[in-house]
Amino acid sequence: MFFRAVQHVLRQGKSRAWPFLPGVVNHFSTASHSQRLARKVAVITGASSGIGKATAAEFVRNGAKVVLADVQGDLGRAVAEELGADAACYTRCDVTDEAQVAAAVDLAVARHGKLDVILNNAGVVGSLARPPLGALDLADFDRVMAINARGVMAGVKHAARVMVPRRSGSIICMASIAGVLGSVTPHPYSVSKAAVVGIVRAVAGELARSGVRVNAISPNYIPTPLVMRILEEWYPGSCAEEHKRIVEKNINEMEGVVLEPEDIARAALYLASDESKYVNGHNLVVDGGFTVGKAPNMPAPAQ
Ligand code: NAP
Repeated sequence: MFFRAVQHVLRQGKSRAWPFLPGVVNHFSTASHSQRLARKVAVITGASSGIGKATAAEFVRNGAKVVLADVQGDLGRAVAEELGADAACYTRCDVTDEAQVAAAVDLAVARHGKLDVILNNAGVVGSLARPPLGALDLADFDRVMAINARGVMAGVKHAARVMVPRRSGSIICMASIAGVLGSVTPHPYSVSKAAVVGIVRAVAGELARSGVRVNAISPNYIPTPLVMRILEEWYPGSCAEEHKRIVEKNINEMEGVVLEPEDIARAALYLASDESKYVNGHNLVVDGGFTVGKAPNMPAPAQ
């Protein structure tokens, strides 16, 4: 019966038949037509560029109001303007300063009355020198940990401060495949991203009892400004196109498919929305099978 109904819809063309099958609409409609975050309010750190910027656009497309929190003011204000003053605003927020993180959260509450979602996304790689362990610069380690791990902890703490009393909210923290696999980035970055997953696991049970969820996303390499800076340093003789090719071909298990910031934005959209209402304490690895498909230094199997 159901399949006959679907066939009927397909024969009719979706514009005429859709209203008669509301349950089917969600399965076939595209993200651009849905409002999966209608009436939700979000803070995104590191939202002036790369993954944060793409996620801000995806959230706004899905009906959310977004506070863009970043240290890059000109870029952040331009992104907010592009998304529209009603839907987005920029605030300067250095995540190493707890008071600034608290202020970004409070700004969302002051403007929109509540906070439903935070994406703790701001991050840096630190020194690109890749020294052996014996030459590790612990000052660089501290700088990276202050942004990538302590900054995330601050975001979790202050989002929970306003979410727990309302017994609702979704906290998302940006980790990386570097927290899953060693040896793919410099030590401080790798440690900081494993710590992000640790933060999620440390607080998920406690927050669940208050109706708040917390999850991580671990993307594979994407040629954002952060990654392009790494490749410029590691392959100084090659052009930007070649750097992009290295990411898309060499650090990629999936033939003919490349990872884009928008793919991570859609993963964040899922975790932000009520569709993931029972997903808590999870690390959503978005890597095309990279971390499970081929161990580093192992040759790929013969085709
Ligand atoms: P991006 O384009 O450089 O965006 C990161 C943004 O965060 C930048 O605007 C950056 O400003 C800002 N930021 C840096 N330090 C900050 C601080 N202390 N407080 C607030 N904002 C700060 O990088 P992305 O690739 O989109 O990275 C976003 C997140 O995804 C990071 O956590 C990164 O580790 C993670 N990630 C990225 C990849 C990838 O391949 N691209 C893979 C896995 C995970 P500045 O440019 O001034 O530093």
